[in-house]
Amino acid sequence: MAYTGSMLMVVAPSGAGKSSLVNALLEKDPDIGLSVSFTTRAPRPGEVNGREYNFLTEQEFLKRKDAGDFLEWANVHGNYYGTSKSWIESQMKNGKDVILEIDWQGARQVQQLIPQAIWIFILPPSIQTLEDRLRKRAQDDEATIQKRVAAAKDELAHVAEANYLVVNDNFEQALSDLNQVVLASRLRTGPQLARQHQLAKELGAIGGAN
Ligand code: GDP
Ligand code: ADP
Ligand code: 5GP
Repeated sequence: MAYTGSMLMVVAPSGAGKSSLVNALLEKDPDIGLSVSFTTRAPRPGEVNGREYNFLTEQEFLKRKDAGDFLEWANVHGNYYGTSKSWIESQMKNGKDVILEIDWQGARQVQQLIPQAIWIFILPPSIQTLEDRLRKRAQDDEATIQKRVAAAKDELAHVAEANYLVVNDNFEQALSDLNQVVLASRLRTGPQLARQHQLAKELGAIGGAN
C-alpha cells in the first residue's frame, strides 16, 4: 500500500543529542508521531513509563518478541530495545509521519522491511564532546558512561549506511538541518504522487497515454 507519511529513523551514539533534537523537532511539528520503544533498561531519574519508554522485564520483552510484536528489536549495551509493530502500522495507515530513535541494528532491520524509511545519523562534533555531554546530562554512573563512549565507536562505524548526516555542534543549526530533512522527505515523488493523484492525472503525468 502507498504510505504518504514519512518514516524517519534517528540514530546516534548515546550523548550525541538525539532525544534533545527529536523533542525540539516535535515541539515545532507536533503532527509527527514519536515511537515509544519497549526496553528492559531501568528507568533513569525523571523517566516516566509510557513517555520515554515502555519499561518491562526481560521475560515480558522476550514474550512479546516471540509473539512478533516488534517491528525490530536489538540488544544495545546489554539491554533489549524494540519498536511496537502495531503502533507503527496504525500511524502509517493514517498517513502520519513517524520518528524512531533506534540504534543501527534496528535501523538496518527497518530499512530491509520498509525501504522508503529514512535513516538520519546524528554526529557529535568530537568523542570528547560526546563524553562531556554524557557527564553533563548526569543520568548515568561513570561505568555506564565509559561503556557508552566505548560503544559509540561501534555505532559510528555504521554512518555510511545512513541517508542523511546531521552534525550536532550548534544545537539550532542541527535542529534546522533535521527539520529540513523532514520537510524534504514529504516532497518525495512516491508520497507526493499518492497525495496529488488527481492533479497528476489531470496533467497527464500519470495513468494516460504518453
Ligand atoms: P541514549 O542513547 O542516551 O538515548 O540512551 P537509551 O538507553 O535511551 O537508548 C539506548 C540505545 O537504544 C540508543 O542507541 C537508542 O537509539 C536505542 N534504542 C532505543 N529504543 C530502541 C528500539 O526500540 N529499537 C532499537 N533497535 N534501538 C533502540
Ligand atoms: P542522546 O539522546 O543522543 O543520548 P541527549 O539528547 O540526551 O542525547 O543529549 C545529551 C546531552 O547533551 C544532554 O544533556 C543535552 O542537553 C546535551 N546536548 C545536546 N545537544 C547539544 C548541543 N548541540 N550543544 C550542547 N549540549 C547539547
Ligand atoms: P538509552 O538507553 O540511552 O535511552 O538508549 C541507548 C540506545 O538504545 C540508543 O542508542 C538508542 O538509540 C537505542 N534504542 C532506543 N530505543 C530503541 C529501539 O526501539 N530499538 C533499537 N534497536 N534501539 C533502540
